Amino acid sequence: MFQPVKSVAIVGAGSAGWLTALVLATYCPFLKIALIRPRDNNPIGVGESTQPDLPLRLQAAGVDLGDFCVACDATIKCGIFYRDWNVVGDHYWHPFTTMADTGSYTAAHHYQQMILEDPRRYSHADYYARVHTSYETCVKRNLIAPEAALALHVDAVKLARYLERFLTKVELIEADHVEAVGVDGKIAGIELDGGRRAAADLYVDCTGFARALLGKIAQPTPLVYEANVNRAVAANVPYAEPASEMHPYTRAHAHEHGWTWAIPLRSRIGSGYVYHADFCSPEQAERNFRAYWGHERMRDVPVRHISFERDTLREPWVGNVVAIGLAAGFVEPLEATGLNWTISSADLLARFLGPQYYDEDSPAKYNALMRGYIHDVQDFVDAHYLLSARRDSDFWRYQTSRPYPERLMHRLEVYSAEMPNDRNRVKSFAWAFNEVSWLDILNGYGFEYRKIAVPPEQRARAEQALEQAAAAPRKGVDPRTFMPVAMSGQGTRLSGSV
Ligand SMILES: Cc1cc2nc3c(=O)[nH]c(=O)nc-3n(C[C@H](O)[C@H](O)[C@H](O)COP(=O)(O)OP(=O)(O)OC[C@H]3O[C@@H](n4cnc5c(N)ncnc54)[C@H](O)[C@@H]3O)c2cc1C
Repeated sequence: MFQPVKSVAIVGAGSAGWLTALVLATYCPFLKIALIRPRDNNPIGVGESTQPDLPLRLQAAGVDLGDFCVACDATIKCGIFYRDWNVVGDHYWHPFTTMADTGSYTAAHHYQQMILEDPRRYSHADYYARVHTSYETCVKRNLIAPEAALALHVDAVKLARYLERFLTKVELIEADHVEAVGVDGKIAGIELDGGRRAAADLYVDCTGFARALLGKIAQPTPLVYEANVNRAVAANVPYAEPASEMHPYTRAHAHEHGWTWAIPLRSRIGSGYVYHADFCSPEQAERNFRAYWGHERMRDVPVRHISFERDTLREPWVGNVVAIGLAAGFVEPLEATGLNWTISSADLLARFLGPQYYDEDSPAKYNALMRGYIHDVQDFVDAHYLLSARRDSDFWRYQTSRPYPERLMHRLEVYSAEMPNDRNRVKSFAWAFNEVSWLDILNGYGFEYRKIAVPPEQRARAEQALEQAAAAPRKGVDPRTFMPVAMSGQGTRLSGSV
């Protein structure tokens, strides 16, 4: 099979549809791209905590980030703050960091080594303050740390609207009736009302949980995975005290039956209570969620109940259809991987389409790479539950005693023998979280490593990095007034209040 690709039809206009259009328009300028959406368009409306790849792709496409942030109610995200995940009353910090690029033995590794060497002097509790300058700035002072300011919180609905305005070369097709026609394991076209029909060389299924294209040509094989949570109650929560509530990070607060996300935007807080249907009813979840923010504040706030009990596909690319976004699958909101997964999928697809054709090997190669990425996400997310010391509810007793994938158990064994580093991590495309991210999370659970032999020059470099972190001035800017001018792997240039 040899299929030249000059045109792509993306069906679905949620975040995945528009982000796929953005990435393909940027990296495959030869493509004629159409985005097809039903007139009663109904995107899921969550997915507001992002990773550094979003601003990077926006900039690559020529988007002015300041303009984008104003239009999309966006704020700066420096990381994720975890509360009560290991034991009630504790916390840990997972900032964006570029430290992993500095070698296999970073300051983060060195601090773990010092805990092993002198546990009375060095502790897991002090790790974040000693290793990450952003801890004091973001967590203690509630200010943006430019060195960690690599991502955004963004209004999901406004993001789609912004990209619709920006991507003027993408043909937007709206119809009351949108139906994919499947023939012999391929999509032959998209039937629209009024006898119209859209056709392309390749189709991207961005129809979310509906999987309206892929479902027409294949009986999808799911990836075997047991989700920790599968429901959410979500709402737009009004600010009570913006000075303290507009924090430059996403907060993930664990509870007896699940956890709550808090994503501060400029005008409101995006929030949701996440739980597992086996341990909590929707009514109980809503009561817990409203009580969390306070009944007075939540009195007139409508909430939405969302089920995300859907399989992730083993093979998101089948025939001439590639499923991206929720159509391809979802793990859960923890660690904000949804949009990153979408962008990673679109990036990979753009690489495959670079030569302007695909062949019979392309789907299998693409699917294998995406599986590696998804496994990395699943393992990382699972570790947050598996390692917890909480036993205060059936939910936590189950999460901490149930079987987890052999792959994750093996990984943790490997990491305990030698901290996650350049050598024992697969640094290919199939890689969602860097080794310092793993150290940050594992530290939150007091994970025990074995001591490792470190060449003296590496040790000296890491010691120096720790000293520099201790001496570095803690620059911080108020999240309520600052906007990014440019964001890169090196940190963010922030300028002027808007
Ligand atoms: C509770 C929850 C919290 C989340 N939080 C985060 C987060 O903080 N960060 C993050 O990165 N990700 C998060 N995600 C994931 C994120 O929301 C999604 O990855 C993102 O919104 C992409 O959704 P989508 O565009 O694939 O699907 P949708 O938004 O559902 O869009 C589907 C589109 O397809 C159209 N459509 C549906 N059926 C048909 C049909 N039959 N024919 C034609 N068109 C159709 C719809 O009208 C819509 O335009 C979260 C997800 C959930 C469930």
